[in-house]
Amino acid sequence: MEFPHAQVASLMRIAPRPPLMFVRGEGSWLIDQTGKRYLDFIQGWAVNCLGHNPPAIRQALAAQADTLINPSPAFYNAPALQLAALLTAHSCFNRVFFANTGAEANEGAIKLARKYGRLHRGGAYKIITFEHGFHGRTLATMSASGKPGWDRLFAPQVPGFPKARLNDLDSVAALIDAETVAVMLEPIQGEGGVLPASAEFLRALRHLTTERGLLLIVDEVQTGMGRTGRLFAHQHADIAPDIMTLGKGIGGGVPLSALLAQESVCCFEPGDQGGTYNGNPLMTAVGVAVLETLLAPGFLAEVAALGAHLEMALNALAQRHQLPGERGVGLLRALLLDTDRGPAIVDAARDLGPTGLLLNAPRPNLLRFMPALNIGRDDIDWMIELLDPLLATVGR
Ligand SMILES: *Cc1c(COP(=O)(O)O)cnc(C)c1O
Repeated sequence: MEFPHAQVASLMRIAPRPPLMFVRGEGSWLIDQTGKRYLDFIQGWAVNCLGHNPPAIRQALAAQADTLINPSPAFYNAPALQLAALLTAHSCFNRVFFANTGAEANEGAIKLARKYGRLHRGGAYKIITFEHGFHGRTLATMSASGKPGWDRLFAPQVPGFPKARLNDLDSVAALIDAETVAVMLEPIQGEGGVLPASAEFLRALRHLTTERGLLLIVDEVQTGMGRTGRLFAHQHADIAPDIMTLGKGIGGGVPLSALLAQESVCCFEPGDQGGTYNGNPLMTAVGVAVLETLLAPGFLAEVAALGAHLEMALNALAQRHQLPGERGVGLLRALLLDTDRGPAIVDAARDLGPTGLLLNAPRPNLLRFMPALNIGRDDIDWMIELLDPLLATVGR
């Protein structure tokens, strides 16, 4: 198959894409239009938690498409009820609202917190978020994000998102005033470069927010659904947040996200929140298939074991090439580089032959790894073999 150069001009240019087109996916592998195979450690940005085209998702989609695709969000449907019941049974939350993207789930969390502030906190609306945090690309979620430069990109911002520093409780406490209603963070800052909030920080934050009557919101769009070896990353710190958002992995590759909250916070009334596609059975049936896979005995323990295997292999690479080290939890990890050669390594890895390697550099001085949660140890070892020579040569 030829690459369709002429058609590229018809797409809005929102990313510098290489001139290749993927035509097939199989587990940890993607195949382009020439038949070249790529070992995929991006997986749609931690989205395809069971790899490309897994049987569980193919079967769920086919069976649901055969029976009911979209009765409208004004009616109940069985997969949405089943997924909501599974999520509440396996978390500290009592209620679920389904949406389609991580940003949309976070918008819902922001709206829920602001409504709570209006009802219970005298109109308080400010949500303390964090430098280098990432919550999505809508106007409100960009305003909640702490990416340098984003405050000016589509100015004026949505107001009410003062920024604290991760793992610095005093920086949070200093921002609390009478208009504050919540604190919102990622348990591990993913786009910020795989920066974990420490368990001590999360526990102290839970203590502080409870003491001051504030809501604690965790954005688990990237860290949730087994990515860290627990179903949700906040469980490592043994805390119960008031609100959680899920995205990415919950759909295993299809557009599905969720807003979860404890009963005491659920103050939406009919008319406050909704959306045309929200909770449609085609997507929620996939969510059920994904979650049932993650909950199968031994699955999450194996994710943790695979994470430990990847951690060891990355540490060995760091030692061999005199790099600063690696960090992360479970199968969300980063290799820290000596210089800003991340993008050059990403390009060189993709262009390797005969087998390419797909990596991602959310910051120029590190590489991020977010493979399928069911990847084999042999594929992790293969990735290390492909990356090893590049670290010795590219940008050196
Ligand atoms: C990816 C991501 C989002 C945004 O999700 P979309 O589905 O792209 O809207 C929000 N928060 C975090 C932590 C993410 O990693």
